[in-house]
Amino acid sequence: MDKTYPVVIAIDGTSASGKSSNARRVARALGYVYVDTGAMYRTLAWYCLQHQIDYQDPKAVAAACRKWKTRLECVENQVRLTVDGYYPEEEIRQSNVSMVVSLVATVPKVRQWMKQTQRACLQFGNLVMEGRDIGTNVFPETDYKYYLDAQIEERTRRRQAEGVHENLAARDQQDSQRAAAPLMIALGAKVINNSGLTLEQTSARLLQDIQARLKADGR
Ligand code: C5P
Repeated sequence: MDKTYPVVIAIDGTSASGKSSNARRVARALGYVYVDTGAMYRTLAWYCLQHQIDYQDPKAVAAACRKWKTRLECVENQVRLTVDGYYPEEEIRQSNVSMVVSLVATVPKVRQWMKQTQRACLQFGNLVMEGRDIGTNVFPETDYKYYLDAQIEERTRRRQAEGVHENLAARDQQDSQRAAAPLMIALGAKVINNSGLTLEQTSARLLQDIQARLKADGR
């Protein structure tokens, strides 16, 4: 790939498989910009709830996505999507948002908007982007694709330790079974099942592989 083009490291995987923690660590270690695409879908779900838009109506959700006033910002090497100048950092983590986000994420027009917006993050430089469809759909051309997973019991335990009680299996199922850009392992992705690994061990594995590939690519 063209060496003047930014590097994009795509980290996909199931809910609570450690994508965010690992992507943050990898981005910090490499000095790259971290992008949490789940936060963008959550922001749209939050926006629908705030504005009483029927999140079960794909047309209404697509219309909201066409009209909302957003901006991409990069603060301390992390991308933020703001709406009407506001960054709903805390609000998007609430359970009411978690419950509806996967439904909002099934809408093809929403996914188109997200893909375009996520690709626009290239303006900020080299990226570590985490989500569900980064290696398959948003940046299929990248050579740096990773897929994280862990056993459902382990993932549920991790969320519970954070005080979050959520039906992760239901969200995974919805994410894997939707027609538009479902969660799946991208062709050529390195799969890391981290059930028996600590965060440090998982990010060390990722970094080791990424650094070897960067070197082989002369980057
Ligand atoms: O990563 P997080 O759990 O915050 O993502 C919330 C939801 O957003 C996912 O369950 C999924 O429905 C949706 N999502 C997606 N594609 C992405 C990132 C997130 O469909 N690239």
